[in-house]
Amino acid sequence: MENCIFCKIVSGEIPSDFVYEDDLMVAFNDLNPQAPTHVLFVPKKHIDSLDTASDEDFEAFGKIFKAIGEYAKKEGFSEDGYRIVNNVNKMGGQDVYHIHFHLIAGRQMQWPPG
Ligand code: 5GP
Ligand code: ZN
Repeated sequence: MENCIFCKIVSGEIPSDFVYEDDLMVAFNDLNPQAPTHVLFVPKKHIDSLDTASDEDFEAFGKIFKAIGEYAKKEGFSEDGYRIVNNVNKMGGQDVYHIHFHLIAGRQMQWPPG
């Protein structure tokens, strides 16, 4: 997708350090971290948001959740806990319209979120 910043990160056009990569997704540190750990898990396929995802995309989302859980275990903060966030469209606070899942960890999360 032209002019999509996350497609450019996925393709390597914008060089980034991936903390995780497989055939379906990449993961990299957020530019503006909201916690000591703030990693974005991003499917390689361009999908605008959950709102426009097709049935076949949900298999990838399941694998992304699995990868996040494994990453949290590997990094050692799984037992303490963490949060996964997916912002959808304007009222959900979505800024980048290439679907992504925030993994946020390393501090006490609050509820309700802002
Ligand atoms: P959203 O609000 O769409 O759910 O989240 C977008 C996230 O992407 C924000 O947390 C923002 O800091 C992050 N972000 C935006 N542009 C870049 C970038 O070029 N590189 C990285 N690493 N993160 C970005
Ligand atoms: Zn994209």
